[in-house]
Amino acid sequence: MLLTADVEFIISRLSENGHRADVVGGPVRDWLRGFAPADYDITTSATPEEIKAAFSGFRTVDTGIKHGTVTLILNKVPYEITTYRIDGDYLDSRHPETVSFTQNITEDLARRDFTVNAIAYNPKFGITDPFGGREDIEKKIIRAVGDPHRRFSEDALRILRALRFSSTLGFGIEAKTAEALREKSRLLSNISAERIYTEWKKLLSGGFAYSVIRDFSEVISVFIPELRELKLPKEKDFAADFITRQAQLFYLTLGEGSAYAADIAIRRLKTDSLTRDVTVKMLENVGKYRLSTLFDAGKMLIDLDVNVAEALVGLEISLGNFAAQSKELLKEYIASGLPYKTCQLAIDGNDIKALGISGKEIGKTLSSLLSLVASSELENKKETLIECIKHQKM
Ligand code: ATP
Ligand code: MG
Repeated sequence: MLLTADVEFIISRLSENGHRADVVGGPVRDWLRGFAPADYDITTSATPEEIKAAFSGFRTVDTGIKHGTVTLILNKVPYEITTYRIDGDYLDSRHPETVSFTQNITEDLARRDFTVNAIAYNPKFGITDPFGGREDIEKKIIRAVGDPHRRFSEDALRILRALRFSSTLGFGIEAKTAEALREKSRLLSNISAERIYTEWKKLLSGGFAYSVIRDFSEVISVFIPELRELKLPKEKDFAADFITRQAQLFYLTLGEGSAYAADIAIRRLKTDSLTRDVTVKMLENVGKYRLSTLFDAGKMLIDLDVNVAEALVGLEISLGNFAAQSKELLKEYIASGLPYKTCQLAIDGNDIKALGISGKEIGKTLSSLLSLVASSELENKKETLIECIKHQKM
């Protein structure tokens, strides 16, 4: 495995101090699949104090000293360095009661969730793979390390992680692991909304999300009961990104009531407010617009925020209501310089006031002018707009 100079430095520095350190988890898995690692996590025999001593003079952050994790900042990049760890008993399907440190890398790999994530690499020792992770990568299989029932009972988030890795890697879930996660899926209700949402977002964004959602919809309905009667589009019509996919699932499953249901579900998941806002607004507006001309685009942009309009168009395309090219119309409209906000008009509230109009009528006048300019019935010129007001007494 080709390591970056910084990772080599971390490993050799720990080694000079009498400790062993390996790259572990995601980066090794991705490298064995033929992909460049996104980031590097490091597992080591050194205790947190020993890690900090080996890197005295460098910036470190005590990320989770109790769990053995120190973050080292090297050339502005954070590296999580974690002491080999054995997790004690799990009493709440979430966290081990205690953790203890060990000198044995196999014991550390044994606490990891799936065989494909339980592989370590060190330049001197090569690959350490006590649970057959390499073979499972070749076979494209997600398999729990050890007894899947026990592992999912220990930490129910692993149930969702199995689906997430299946969706992002395109791996199948091994039969016993799949059976156990279905059986234990109720335990997901013990997991915090934030942790669920992080995995759900990755799952639904994955390149192989469609079949995972199709095959494990009852697991998903544990944390989004609104999708219990899940209705999927045809695979070729499945939307392309997280927000549109999520809205599409809500709309197809719940139809008219989908904005309301999605609002409740998304609040429960503690989704960021921007995602929630866009999702609810697109579901409130689905079916209300058409989009075949530049003027249609102007109308949408006048009524809706640009990000909502764009998201809605994506949803309408995935539902087969708009043509695929219609997305371009929004861009074209914006690029054309035609206005879609009253502040883009050649006159403002003061100009209108000067004509003797006051109060709420000012806003109404600006809106009417905006519609006329957007549909090219009026030119966006100060004199033209003022003339229009005078004559039409808007
Ligand atoms: P990604 O590419 O998404 O970062 P990753 O494998 O690095 O994938 P992380 O969530 O970053 O996944 O976790 C790092 C490693 O820690 C995993 O590869 C796995 O070995 C271990 N791990 C993480 N979460 C759990 C868990 N809930 N139970 C057991 N092991 C876990
Ligand atoms: Mg990672």
